[in-house]
Amino acid sequence: MQGSRGTQKKRRRRSPYLFILLAVVLIILIIIFALRAMNTWDVYEKEAAITPVPTPTVRSVQVTPDPYLVTNTPAPSPTPSYLANGSEGEMVVQLQERLQALGYYNSGVDGQYGNGTREAVKVFQQQHGLEADGVAGQMTLSMLYSDQARFITITPTPAPYTVTGENVLLLVNASNKLPDDFVPSDLVNVKAVCGDNMLYASDDVQGVWEAVVALNEMVTAAKADGIGPWKVREGYRTLKYQQQIFDNYVDRFMTENSMSRSQAISATRQTVADPGCSEHHTGLAFDLNANNPDVAFVDTAQYVWLNKHCWEYGFIMRYTDDKQEITGILGEEWHVRYVGKEHSLKMRDMNLCLEEYITWLGAQ
Ligand SMILES: [Zn+2]
Repeated sequence: MQGSRGTQKKRRRRSPYLFILLAVVLIILIIIFALRAMNTWDVYEKEAAITPVPTPTVRSVQVTPDPYLVTNTPAPSPTPSYLANGSEGEMVVQLQERLQALGYYNSGVDGQYGNGTREAVKVFQQQHGLEADGVAGQMTLSMLYSDQARFITITPTPAPYTVTGENVLLLVNASNKLPDDFVPSDLVNVKAVCGDNMLYASDDVQGVWEAVVALNEMVTAAKADGIGPWKVREGYRTLKYQQQIFDNYVDRFMTENSMSRSQAISATRQTVADPGCSEHHTGLAFDLNANNPDVAFVDTAQYVWLNKHCWEYGFIMRYTDDKQEITGILGEEWHVRYVGKEHSLKMRDMNLCLEEYITWLGAQ
């Protein structure tokens, strides 16, 4: 019994320690809890900071002051929460006026949020780093009425390239490709200049003014010699059109001659320039014929006259059989290229194709 009493006493003596121990554990737990809570808060704060509230996005398109900045117009009050297709009234009027002042909206201010307004809003959004959904939501509206709203930026169209004067010898072939955005200056409608002197494969054949005027002179002289009619089949060709022609040829070789794609491309390259490598892109080249589908142009009186006289009007026979090795193009007796009289006469007298003539000039 003594032993058991002793044990009981010992147990009783231990209980305060147990209390202290429990208290310590509790305190530790509280501290851990508190730290965790603080940590969570911290994380929450961080998350809150990166939650996409409108302001950071708007700030991301801040621009250095530039002349296009337009003076701030106060937002309509009360500011609408959002405007979209179908919205109408004073708020839309103010929206349209603001878009108009910034150059985005050109239609009438009628207070009707239709497709015109939506497109204007879209462009504004695109140019301000906003999602371009055409809906004038809060972010779009606050940007629109802020001093960060910028005047519309219009992508400049490529500057036309002067192909006359000292550039008239512009060389275009398989190894001299024109830039994709190349557009010659002074393009005119051939029919508008040549009128009844010629026939036209289409009413919209174009060429560079100086070359078209020379063409008209040449055809007038031919007709005075009793040679006609003359038809202009091709003039200026855009890059897109060149691609179409090239693709059509490739397709035809593949279907009609059972060629593989690479065989068809090689065959096409014998007669059609790679897109961007066509001389027609310069606006200085024309394909002519006698408007007689039953006779090859090479067998017509028109061809005989052209081959003899084109040089006197500033044109050259650009692709002849005997220069095929140099030009890389099979003989095309219908294709004339304008280079101006000064050069065409020399090229005739020296029997040089354009590639050879440019090399010769460079050596002078
Ligand atoms: Zn041609």
